[in-house]
Amino acid sequence: LSPEEFRRLGHRMVDWIADYWARVESFPVRAAVAPGEVAAKLPAHAPEEGLEGAEGWEAIFRDLEDVVLPGLTHWQSPSFFAYFPSNTSGPAVLGELLSAGLGVQGMLWSTSPAATEMETRVLDWLAGLLGLPAAFQSGSGTGGGVIQGTASEAVLVALVAARERARRALGREAEWVAYTSTQTHSSVLKAAMLAGVANGAQDGVHLRQIDTDGGYALRPDLLEKAVREDLAAGRQPFFVCASLGTTSSGAMDPVRAVGEVWERTGVRASGGWLHVDAAWAGSALLCPEYAALREGLEVADSFAFNPHKWLLTNFDCDAFYTRDRKALIDALSVTPEYLRNAASASGAVIDYRDWQVPLGRRFRALKLWFVLRHYGARGLRTYVREHIRLAERFAAWVEEDARFELAVPRSLSLVCFRLEPRPGEAPGDTDTRNRLLLERLNASGQAFLSHTVLPGVDGAPARYVLRLAIGAVRTEERHVRAVWERLVALAGE
Ligand code: PLP
Repeated sequence: LSPEEFRRLGHRMVDWIADYWARVESFPVRAAVAPGEVAAKLPAHAPEEGLEGAEGWEAIFRDLEDVVLPGLTHWQSPSFFAYFPSNTSGPAVLGELLSAGLGVQGMLWSTSPAATEMETRVLDWLAGLLGLPAAFQSGSGTGGGVIQGTASEAVLVALVAARERARRALGREAEWVAYTSTQTHSSVLKAAMLAGVANGAQDGVHLRQIDTDGGYALRPDLLEKAVREDLAAGRQPFFVCASLGTTSSGAMDPVRAVGEVWERTGVRASGGWLHVDAAWAGSALLCPEYAALREGLEVADSFAFNPHKWLLTNFDCDAFYTRDRKALIDALSVTPEYLRNAASASGAVIDYRDWQVPLGRRFRALKLWFVLRHYGARGLRTYVREHIRLAERFAAWVEEDARFELAVPRSLSLVCFRLEPRPGEAPGDTDTRNRLLLERLNASGQAFLSHTVLPGVDGAPARYVLRLAIGAVRTEERHVRAVWERLVALAGE
């Protein structure tokens, strides 16, 4: 494409996206295609001949309508309430476009100083807004923030840094043990698998999942028991991951109490690492009324949250902070001759390649920079508060209707609820009715919710529950009311 043709097509594509956002509400939220249906519309082989200039792009724009749109689940729909939100916004998309257009690769400071220094500064801004400990900011000289692709990469990086730090502290190999709760996100288990930390009591290294309390938060007393057992058996605890906002039910693990276990058992003194996964809930820290969620972060070694979930920034963007950047570098730095340069050798710059798994990296700070500048802290707080307010409304409607119940108290903008058991009804039958309710709602296309199963507490059976996660950029009260009215109507059926 010539620059002029790019300009014309680019304007048209931006128009297309703006139109998509304007009409996103009109589509069924969940994709209604069968497996293979999208693929069947695509040629089996790549084209031999390219398109003739900009005119040929007519076919591509047609395919967006005919092939792509019908195969989408509309995450940007105001009636998307499934999983956790995956935000995008005008400022973020413009930042992403600019990043692609500049096409710089910021693996080293020297390969594009602006990419590194702006990332450092924007993450410091964000740390300030969230009220994270000063040790997580670059000014500390020993800590700082970095954009990882995902919370999954963040926990993997934390885990391998932790093991390397513990190995150096101990001065030898050991039978390493990591801990997290039974409600933790699957990414922690995947990180453990990737790092060769087995789930269960196998040889070498272990991941132990600790039971939760009635609110599905990690029980520090059981963590302490497990740590002491492992120490007594000659195994070496080195890593614990606490969650702020578990995926199933939004539970908040007691970070401070976890840190105290680390302290009391001597694990901290031997280099043990405490990671906090706040992938979704982290955005709430912007609001002073949720300052309690910060409790204990001063003893955490790392903290991660996803602006790509609930902070108006399109995927991928995970903000990862550590107080010990040296530990990352010790674990992740490999320097072949072709990457050597004077700036790195001087020690005066950050090379973010040493803080992550891949070598290469995009200029992702641009989209975050645009989002923070466009909305400002006040705009972001208003945004988060409105979703929480809507979730409060929904939770109140659930509580007022005798046919429904909250499965757990609302957590920020997440409501877990279900049809209440009928007198004498077998638990499996209540689950079936709830499954049916969810399937009918989602099949209607009007809204999209997802589900989870919460384990039983104190001998009670496990429960199938519906999750309403509010956080799409265009969600208003009328959308939340509409999904509630549809649920009520379906319950009546
Ligand atoms: N941690 C929690 C608590 C999550 O809810 C999620 C995703 O929903 C993740 C981690 C994984 O996020 P990512 O897709 O950024 O790896």
